[in-house]
Amino acid sequence: MVQFNLSDFNSIHRVLHWRRLLWRSQYFPRAEQDALQWSLLSTLLDHCFAEVPGYRECWRRLGLCREDFRSAADIVRFPVISKKDVRTDPQSFRSNRFASYRPKPMRTTGTTGSPLEVYWDSGSNAMELAAQWRHYSWFGYRLGTPFLDIRFHKHRPSGRWAWNWKCRGLETCIRLWDDSNAEELARELKRRGVRLWRGHPTAVYELCRLFERRGITQPKPSCIITVGHLLLDYERDFMQKWAGVTVGDSYGLTEHTALICRCPAGSYHIAPEYGLIEILREDDSTAAPGEEGRIVSTGLHNMAFPLIRYDTGDRAVASAEVCSCGRTLPVVRELAGRNDDRLIDRNGRRIASLHRMFKYSDGVRCSQIVQNEAGVIEAYVVPADGFSDRDGSRIIAEFKRELGDDMKVRLHVVQELPFPPEGKFKFAVNRMKTAGTTSLQI
Ligand SMILES: [Zn+2]
Repeated sequence: MVQFNLSDFNSIHRVLHWRRLLWRSQYFPRAEQDALQWSLLSTLLDHCFAEVPGYRECWRRLGLCREDFRSAADIVRFPVISKKDVRTDPQSFRSNRFASYRPKPMRTTGTTGSPLEVYWDSGSNAMELAAQWRHYSWFGYRLGTPFLDIRFHKHRPSGRWAWNWKCRGLETCIRLWDDSNAEELARELKRRGVRLWRGHPTAVYELCRLFERRGITQPKPSCIITVGHLLLDYERDFMQKWAGVTVGDSYGLTEHTALICRCPAGSYHIAPEYGLIEILREDDSTAAPGEEGRIVSTGLHNMAFPLIRYDTGDRAVASAEVCSCGRTLPVVRELAGRNDDRLIDRNGRRIASLHRMFKYSDGVRCSQIVQNEAGVIEAYVVPADGFSDRDGSRIIAEFKRELGDDMKVRLHVVQELPFPPEGKFKFAVNRMKTAGTTSLQI
């Protein structure tokens, strides 16, 4: 979650501006929403044509000028950019006045296992905070309400949990909790008055299962928001049944280019004020409603490091439907990317969120993890220029830190991944006989 430091205080007025506007614009007639989105895109294009050397050069070569763009629909005239383009020449995506936007470097592997450095600036941070706030508000959240933030990795190196007083979040890692100490977590949740549970889908799902197994009925969440990975149907169904609430899943990127949020009626709404999302076929034409395609997104607020028509590597099914919840925000029928398998640890628990094991290694072009047997993970790396033994050691150390000594990790440096993309890329592949979805539900 985005947090604000003292140095961010001059962004507060922007958050409050968006707090006012986003609460209204979610009910705007479509024409008014389009006009708002175009005014944001228009400002971004003015900026990129004037201040971002990579775009200026590319668009000049293509014979494009600012006057060619008169509505958001004209964006299709720009080429789609890939993660590889950004990784190859990150400098060219920086604004000439980069430092003035107070950018913060962020590392990501997304869901493709390929490390990438991007930047958040103060404008994109303000929108991120306001847009997440709006999503949570759909489920009754009010700013300042204490919440649980449960992940697959440790937020901090010591202790079972940490209390983040800045955002009133109880931060913890699911792998620290089991039958021997579940009651301790329940007591802490009760003591803090935590009713919103937020985290990786598998982490929240595991916690619901643990509480159910232990017969813990209090406190149950009044609101569940899942982030960071694809929410699987069986995880969603179990959580909803056990907690008696609708799971408010969300899709976002470290790149700050797209946000899609599930509403209480179960639809996935695009936040058009946050980013412009296109669902494209392989030939870059627009997918028809009901058709699955690549999510290509344009973040509307990052002036330091703007990404225009950025191929996210994820997929969704396009839709022209209108949601019954009353919000007029456009919807996608389904999020189809992020289709990783769940790997299993020695205790039979699911492991997720292992993309980050590779994100600090510049020498990694792409990666994939495969499980053929219990207790062993095969990590495959296709090296980029400059890959060294140091990268290999760092990756192994990250796995050890994350999974402990229980899991054996074998690193393979290869020229091609064992399960290369065929339309959809699977970063985590489970080939154990028990890996079928049905058996995982038990
Ligand atoms: Zn809705």
